[in-house]
Amino acid sequence: MRDYSSTLRDAGLRVTEPRLALLRTAQEGGHSSVEALRQGVIDQIGSVSVQAVYDIVHALTTAGLLREVRSAGTVTYYEINRNDNHHHAICRSCGRIEDVPCAKGEKPCLHASHTHGYTINEAEVIYHGYCPDCQAKRRK
Ligand SMILES: [Zn+2]
Ligand SMILES: [Zn+2]
Ligand SMILES: [Zn+2]
Repeated sequence: MRDYSSTLRDAGLRVTEPRLALLRTAQEGGHSSVEALRQGVIDQIGSVSVQAVYDIVHALTTAGLLREVRSAGTVTYYEINRNDNHHHAICRSCGRIEDVPCAKGEKPCLHASHTHGYTINEAEVIYHGYCPDCQAKRRK
């Protein structure tokens, strides 16, 4: 299990037990909802309020340690930010979420056709559709 104390310190954040527990939960859980993160923290250190979890998630996301995956209509997920510009496929029916590498490893989506003068370092691409399980159910 990775030790996130130095990660927090490097990001200029105070090292606290709830923050460490939340990062460990995110590492184990892959893409986690706030509720799942809260449950993971509770499992490790006892109790934590919903507001405290939101505060931690906000601080870690702002610091770039967590990556937020927000999709219209479904849950917002958080994952450890690997800075690899990977994308996501989210099932419209059950909310299942999978990582999708950027097309051909070249990060072509970062070469936007018109950037308005911005320097671009991440593209939030979400493919919406139906996962294999839900496709099977729909065919019945
Ligand atoms: Zn599904
Ligand atoms: Zn992901
Ligand atoms: Zn891409």
